[in-house]
Amino acid sequence: MTYENFTVETDADGIALVTWDMPGRSMNVFTDEATGEIDAIIDQIAADDAVKGAVITSGKKGSFTGGADLKSVSAMFEDFYAEVGRNNDAAIATLFERAGRMSWIWRKLETCGKPFVAAINGTCMGGGFELALASHARIAARSAKMGLPEVKVGILPGAGGTQRVPRMMDTQGALQMLMKGSTLSADDALKMGLIDAVVEEGELVSAAKEMLKKGVSPVKPWDEDRFKLPSGPVYSPAGAKVWPAVASLYRKETSDNYPSAKAIVKCVYEGLLLPMDTALKVEQRYFTEVLRTTEARMMIRSLFVSSQALAKGARRPKDVPATDLKKIGVIGAGFMGAGIAYVAAMGGLEVVLIDQEQAAADKGKGHSQKLVEGAVSKGRMKQEKGEQLLSRITATTDYGQLADAGLVIEAVFEDRDVKAEVTKKVAEVLSKDAIYASNTSTIPITSLATAFPDQDRFIGIHFFSPVDRMQLTEVILGEKTGDKALAVALDFIRVIKKTPIVVNDSRGFFANRCVLRYMNEAYDMLVEGVPPAMIENAAKFAGMPVGPLALNDETAVDLSQKIMKATMRDMGEDAVDPRHFQLVETMVGGGRLGRKAGKGFYDYPEKPAKKKLWPGLKEMFEQKDPETIDFEELKQRFLVTMALEAARTMAEGVVVDPREADIGSIFGFGFAPYTGGTISYIDGMGVKAFVALCEKLEARFGERFAPIPLLKEMADKGETFYQRFDPAGVSARAA
Ligand code: NAD
Repeated sequence: MTYENFTVETDADGIALVTWDMPGRSMNVFTDEATGEIDAIIDQIAADDAVKGAVITSGKKGSFTGGADLKSVSAMFEDFYAEVGRNNDAAIATLFERAGRMSWIWRKLETCGKPFVAAINGTCMGGGFELALASHARIAARSAKMGLPEVKVGILPGAGGTQRVPRMMDTQGALQMLMKGSTLSADDALKMGLIDAVVEEGELVSAAKEMLKKGVSPVKPWDEDRFKLPSGPVYSPAGAKVWPAVASLYRKETSDNYPSAKAIVKCVYEGLLLPMDTALKVEQRYFTEVLRTTEARMMIRSLFVSSQALAKGARRPKDVPATDLKKIGVIGAGFMGAGIAYVAAMGGLEVVLIDQEQAAADKGKGHSQKLVEGAVSKGRMKQEKGEQLLSRITATTDYGQLADAGLVIEAVFEDRDVKAEVTKKVAEVLSKDAIYASNTSTIPITSLATAFPDQDRFIGIHFFSPVDRMQLTEVILGEKTGDKALAVALDFIRVIKKTPIVVNDSRGFFANRCVLRYMNEAYDMLVEGVPPAMIENAAKFAGMPVGPLALNDETAVDLSQKIMKATMRDMGEDAVDPRHFQLVETMVGGGRLGRKAGKGFYDYPEKPAKKKLWPGLKEMFEQKDPETIDFEELKQRFLVTMALEAARTMAEGVVVDPREADIGSIFGFGFAPYTGGTISYIDGMGVKAFVALCEKLEARFGERFAPIPLLKEMADKGETFYQRFDPAGVSARAA
């Protein structure tokens, strides 16, 4: 038999080698067709007496599978939501069937009577790893990575993952692995007992065949009568130690915001009480239930579909040929410039890192040295790779070295005059094809561009700190920025493996505008007398990774003061709440500048002691009785104030694509990921409900919560943001 996506070759020993290699794709993914072919291959192997066992592997170098296919997943949701209003029962029944399809095919493989060995040659995530877990043995190449990341996009491993993992390792470890969705190295997986052997890549298939020849049982341990769970039965002294702690672990990790994580706990708990076939049915039911939650729908859309689309350059002008970027320049080797040089060199680019003095440039390169040393010592980077990376960075004061750079990124002081001077110096040596970008965080790109002879080639590329860890970059279009500049910026961001959003020029661009609202709301709460610990906890319970006061300490309180001063200078005294200004003035006056000063809203004692909220903060404002404060309302205030700001950026045309507001808010400042982002938070509850929530908060806390006209109009029409600003209709340069 022949297959579109697989080859099956049986050798003289009767071992079938099943190789997955989808034509025309760089990675194997689970399309409906590919899954169907696996189904047929299992039947073929089970029925063929000449075949004793099978090895299943991938023909793609460095990867087994990337997991589910975007189109299939989107289609499943679209079909469900199209049907659900008309015929609920039929819609749910269809979803249940589709949700369980892979699971039952994998179960067929597990019980077909012939042994299968999964030879994991590279990245093997999600359904692919579940296929491996259903196989009768697993062997991985040393460099392979694997895991069940479903929880990160709001769902659960629905092809047996929640059942096989806790039957192969201790319950606590299994729950952690499933609830965190972390990626495992081959060695990690081996230690955890999830795979059986690790070999060098070239030996993978022969080692897998050897394993079969030595004998691999076609019956899994849990299908034998004598099977015992690794941690003992759920209802046992051992189980009594594990399970009571799980509920608190779940709450601590998720603040009860993630239905998928809760469902994973239920699947494991209930599943371990049952035989495999019934347990898989339980998993299928919870999977279907989770798929129907708003959280899953929004998270999959943003964190799976949109993030990949944006990373692949959804906003890239199509008619500009691909950029052949080899060398870039970075001017200003300070905090940001040093980080940008590192990620660019990591992406394989030559980097000229310039500062005023050689010592400053060297110090900037020293940052990369430290990161490389850290990565090498932790085994995350090979020594040789680290050395190559460092050799690509040239620290210098010589602008002449920029002559053949394709892109220059300026990251000097946030000062218009200093930036203008640097821009002119670069323009003198830069080739006429090259692009110039500024990493400014506050100065409009259109105005900075006037210092450059050809404004068409001037653009903003705004990084977030720490550059090596933050996934987001904001690309800012000045009024005269041309398509080529946008294309080069996006191609560069792709090379350094970050996710871009493209925004139009305005004060604060997108992310910082929303973040300022977050911190301002905390200032308001402080002024009202809400206890600081309650403010921080409310934010975290709402799903934010870092409380607003802790965040303010990280970004520096004196920076907030500077931003307030600049805002008052440019927009008038009324643009800043005098009570907020007074608060930061008092903090800065007392030397409480944030973490860098060892004191801010928190005190930072010597490690290993942990930071603690500064007790003096409670004395600055008369404290309310916590019993009189509505905790849910505090949570709402944080999310609503940021979402409302995001809606304003869309109403003003600063952001034109709702996917970018969503991704920008999750990747840029960690906006409650279970919502799918600021705009999906609004769409998820419905614009009408959001408007009502804004009005309720407006009545209690003032005008800043007033819903903008766009929201009211959309509420009247019953529109969502994704309908009104349909991403499919957003052209690369729509404004
Ligand atoms: P920084 O003070 O750490 O670094 C600035 C560097 O520029 C210094 O090394 C300085 O010596 C160098 N420099 C100054 N004038 C120069 C000149 N004429 N020629 C060459 N080098 C010169 O500042 P930073 O925090 O890295 O910020 C740099 C830029 O990035 C600013 O525009 C800032 O607004 C922006 N930014 C900062 C952050 C952040 O979190 N710090 C985030 C995003 C964007």
